[in-house]
Amino acid sequence: MAIIIDGKKGARAVRDEVTKRVAALAESGVIPGLAIVQVGHHAPSDIYVGKKVHACEKAGIRVEVHRFSASITDSALAARLRELNQDPAVHGILVQLPLPDTLSTKTLLDVIDPDKDVDGLHPLNIGRLHAGRPGLVPCTPLGIMRLLEDYNVDLKGKHAVVLGRSAIVGRPISWLLLRAHATVTTCHRHTPETIEHARQADVLIVAVGRPGLVTSAWVKPGAVVIDVGINRLPSGRVVGDVDFASVEPVASAISPVPGGVGPMTVAMLLQNVVDAASWRAGEG
Ligand code: NAP
Repeated sequence: MAIIIDGKKGARAVRDEVTKRVAALAESGVIPGLAIVQVGHHAPSDIYVGKKVHACEKAGIRVEVHRFSASITDSALAARLRELNQDPAVHGILVQLPLPDTLSTKTLLDVIDPDKDVDGLHPLNIGRLHAGRPGLVPCTPLGIMRLLEDYNVDLKGKHAVVLGRSAIVGRPISWLLLRAHATVTTCHRHTPETIEHARQADVLIVAVGRPGLVTSAWVKPGAVVIDVGINRLPSGRVVGDVDFASVEPVASAISPVPGGVGPMTVAMLLQNVVDAASWRAGEG
């Protein structure tokens, strides 16, 4: 029987810490502010933005949502982002992804002030992460690291295998694990025999976006398995990338979907906003 890694509990703890820090900042006259930029209509994005707004409001973070039509141009959106960069009441800027194909996501993310880049996707923040310098780190990998810490998973000298190499999950979590002194293997679609790598993992992080890809045959007995996937089946049910029923008896600990990494992602966004506000206030 594996330990079930409870992301809802972990997220509550982070949100409580954030709420206390927001109150302390308010006493020195700083109200942390987040600006969310959303372009066009995308049903899952509406849900994610709604969750972020609700979580910010509960923690005392001022949140504003800037909605634009899908017909907005790169230059018009860049101009709006530059205004938000200059706005002293805004400490964090988040562009809700994906943007419509007509826009250049990379160019637009580069416009955001790196010190307000609470998604941690600006090249300067990627460089800071790689160089081991302080900076804003993508929320999902931060949430995974916090869960591993909460459950006392010792990473030093362990073999961590990451399935997926996206900018938002796979690559930054690989760097964070490396920084925590794990030996890291990162797999992607061109990796031959991914299953053989996965089977060697002491800690297996799965972020590929394929429902139920990882079964017990992929998991070394006693491994810690973190399922990042969020996949909505035609039935409407949300499942991860890991076949929970088959893997849970083999793993020593496993994060479920829902209720694992997902809640941590929103909680770490709040933490990033408060970090950005604290650094600007000189209190970080
Ligand atoms: P993504 O940008 O589509 O990247 C998927 C990665 O998986 C790519 O690097 C791809 O390789 C790799 N991949 C695909 N099939 C593979 C296979 N069979 N074996 C090994 N690697 C494979 O996705 P993402 O944004 O990282 O998201 C991954 C999953 O996590 C999705 O289900 C997403 O919804 C979920 N997610 C959850 C949260 C959360 O808060 N819990 C946050 C973000 C994402 P290539 O690079 O070669 O194409």
